[in-house]
Amino acid sequence: MQVTLVQGDITAQQVDAVVNAANSSLLGGGGVDGAIHRRGGPAILAACRELRASHYGKGLPTGQAVATVAGDLPARWVIHTVGPVFSPAEDRSHLLASCYRESLRVADELGATSVAFPAISTGIYRWPIDDAARIALGAIRSAPTQVTDLRFVLFTPDAYGVFERTLGTG
Ligand code: ADP
Repeated sequence: MQVTLVQGDITAQQVDAVVNAANSSLLGGGGVDGAIHRRGGPAILAACRELRASHYGKGLPTGQAVATVAGDLPARWVIHTVGPVFSPAEDRSHLLASCYRESLRVADELGATSVAFPAISTGIYRWPIDDAARIALGAIRSAPTQVTDLRFVLFTPDAYGVFERTLGTG
């Protein structure tokens, strides 16, 4: 598996699957979730509503992942995963690692070999970027997967720099 770092907007990535840092409602939100729904158009939200009406009546639990169509995005699928909200009082690292592992498991089920990830939980969910980068890179390295092209798409130069340093030292 080749791991690449990209600075930019994940919605522009030409990959089989882009991962969305969703919330458990699956019905849209801010940050990367908002960007994916805006650029991907209404087909993604319609597919999410169907998931809520069928398998995920109570929403998608934290640490799990599920795929939908990608609408107008230059990708075939969106893999929605729900990161944990950072808590200084409680170690939720296993849930953050689970988002990466479960997203890769779903990618394997789809037959997706190129996948783009955002830095899950590091925005509205406030996970410190250094720690999130360490957990993300550790999780993808130890995951059994058929994915050959894995990209982290970091929105800011700061986040890109942190992932670059962590990839170099890990
Ligand atoms: P969470 O609720 O999991 O924290 P956010 O979407 O708020 O999710 O933030 C996750 C990360 O995604 C943050 O580092 C944020 O800067 C980044 N981000 C926001 N928009 C985009 C985008 N269009 N492409 C890639 N990353 C993005």
